[in-house]
Amino acid sequence: MKHVIALDVGGTGMKAALVGPDGELLHQARRPTGRERGPDAVVADILDFAAELHAHGIDRHGEAASAAGVAVPGIVDEAEGVAVYAANLGWRDVPLRALLTERLGGIPVALGHDVRTGGLAEGRIGAGQGADRFLFVPLGTGIAGAIGIDGRVEAGAHGFAGEIGHIVVRPGGAPCPCGQRGCLERFASAAAVSEAWAAACGDPGADAADCAKAVESGDVRAGQVWQEAVDAFADGLVTALTLLDPRALIIGGGLAEAGETLFTPLREAVRRRVTFQKLPSLVPAALGDTAGCLGAGLLAWDLIDDDITAPLNPSNPSYPSEVTT
Ligand SMILES: [Zn+2]
Repeated sequence: MKHVIALDVGGTGMKAALVGPDGELLHQARRPTGRERGPDAVVADILDFAAELHAHGIDRHGEAASAAGVAVPGIVDEAEGVAVYAANLGWRDVPLRALLTERLGGIPVALGHDVRTGGLAEGRIGAGQGADRFLFVPLGTGIAGAIGIDGRVEAGAHGFAGEIGHIVVRPGGAPCPCGQRGCLERFASAAAVSEAWAAACGDPGADAADCAKAVESGDVRAGQVWQEAVDAFADGLVTALTLLDPRALIIGGGLAEAGETLFTPLREAVRRRVTFQKLPSLVPAALGDTAGCLGAGLLAWDLIDDDITAPLNPSNPSYPSEVTT
């Protein structure tokens, strides 16, 4: 059966799959990234992992994978297929696409940025299904974003498009590792909420999930911490939607697991801030931590898919809303 290799490399774990033409997962595997062993060992493991998947496809599905897609963190040059830099993995200028192409016998390989690749999956087959224009924002240790336009995700001229976490929402506010002050990430990431709630409640081990629970039980201090994060996030989102006019805002990551504890006040905070702008739908991400792997599969299929009747092909006439290639 025709299939592709999908691989999502994270700071702690790698997720892989063989993906069929309709997006079905034929095989899945996980293993630790093992970053403590250094970048060269991680790169060697990525190549080994991909080669094992390639062999598995031949053994179990009767033919070699037609293409591969790989998502990695940090700064990624998707056009050149180079993993430029990742602080958590310690690598610089790794020509991953060329290395994988060589290791996998010359099949086409796509290299993607982790958040943009996850956003691609959320937009096409996850929470944004049907949205021709969307913004995907995962709230985790940091805050990043993926701008979806007509079935693909915009990388920008230099690979930095969508970095909503570094929009300044509180000028002169808390310093950010990027060098600026008052960045959104310092107020509305899961890490920032954890830090603020730990300070407010006096328990250094308390985190954002604990804060959400305290909000739900009516704790006033938790409510204040939470609302400050929601207000900062709404300020950042309104800047983004004013520029992008998206049909859907898809919010993921650890903080979104609070569900309506986040979404109800967030919708209200965004609604209060817009004037002429059209309100997009504001929805939780649907694919969880498999988004990156599913997106890597989509990148791979996009390299080879000339069958416009395929459900995952954005050229398909029945593909959501007015998609062109
Ligand atoms: Zn910043």
